[in-house]
Amino acid sequence: SSYVPNPDRYGDMIYNHCGNSGLKLPAISLGLWHNFGHDRPHQLKRDLCRTAFDLGITHFDLANNYGPPPGSAEEAFGEILKTDFAGYRDELVISSKAGYEMWAGPYGEWGSRKYLISSCDQSLKRMGLDYVDIFYSHRFDPDTPLEETMGALDQIVRSGKALYAGISSYNSQRTHQAVAILKDLGTPCIIHQPSYNMINRWVEEDGLKDTLKELGVGSIAFTPLAQGMLTDKYLKGTPEDSRASQGKSLNPDLLTAQAVDNLRKLNEIAERRGQSLAQMALAWVLRGGGITTALIGASRPEQIADCVASLANLEFSRDELDDIDRYSAN
Ligand code: NDP
Repeated sequence: SSYVPNPDRYGDMIYNHCGNSGLKLPAISLGLWHNFGHDRPHQLKRDLCRTAFDLGITHFDLANNYGPPPGSAEEAFGEILKTDFAGYRDELVISSKAGYEMWAGPYGEWGSRKYLISSCDQSLKRMGLDYVDIFYSHRFDPDTPLEETMGALDQIVRSGKALYAGISSYNSQRTHQAVAILKDLGTPCIIHQPSYNMINRWVEEDGLKDTLKELGVGSIAFTPLAQGMLTDKYLKGTPEDSRASQGKSLNPDLLTAQAVDNLRKLNEIAERRGQSLAQMALAWVLRGGGITTALIGASRPEQIADCVASLANLEFSRDELDDIDRYSAN
């Protein structure tokens, strides 16, 4: 079936500058960590990507190891680039990463130049691309000089395999160091990808959120819905088709009676705002402009539409924020 993108796709989406860079990112981005492996039909992946693009989501986030099996999400996205998205490459911001285990042996994970550069080449091959827009060091490597890891990112950008460099899950102190090294090399770090949501606030406690603002580095918050916990799906038990019941990355033990009770309270606050819990969770991540974009995942196209509609109300009263703290901050 041939796909014609929605001609009004740029009408309602909000685009934010990524830190001090010239690159704008949609306030909601789509990640391909789950639901793009061999465990899902290809048509679902196409529908998810089409729905996102039709709603103005121009940014698609990948990594070498997304699947299962590792690499298969990039292959599936490469297919979609050749079919549905053919002719739209320049309207898309595509990212990939290297850091977690991708292949056997000493060169298949962490932060060496050897690993990052070969992994980037593999990602480009799987997606059928000449370059990605953003390439990340997926995690800090305590056993490799930071100069080497950042030097690899610099080389990847200079050799034309990526347009911009980013880092993921580095703490505030390591971020200061990484940003300084990249600045010296002449390849700015334009983006940081940390986890962040109402029940996971490490970026505030660690000082990373303030650091990024101070350094003019943009931010893309992953798992803004706490992998689906911050939605209405677990309020009445654990549905069969949910991530928590599929033995994936969301541990069902987190859904204690107390936790679900708090989710119900948060859902009531969301209802008073005229939002779904997912919408309020995303608005909360984006509140005050402290985060460039919220990076969601989705198992169904309707979830993406629900998430994008969060942008209709990004304002919070002091009372709402206090109420949210009462039921989410541990
Ligand atoms: P989310 O916190 O957005 O969780 C996504 C899940 O929430 C969906 O799969 C779905 O669950 C549920 N959901 C989404 N929207 C709705 C809705 N409107 N109503 C009800 N339920 C909804 O993020 P992810 O955990 O998927 O992570 C997002 C992305 O972040 C990844 O794809 C990846 O790109 C990135 N990431 C990066 C990491 C890093 O180390 N840099 C680590 C982890 C993620 P269900 O499937 O149960 O329907």
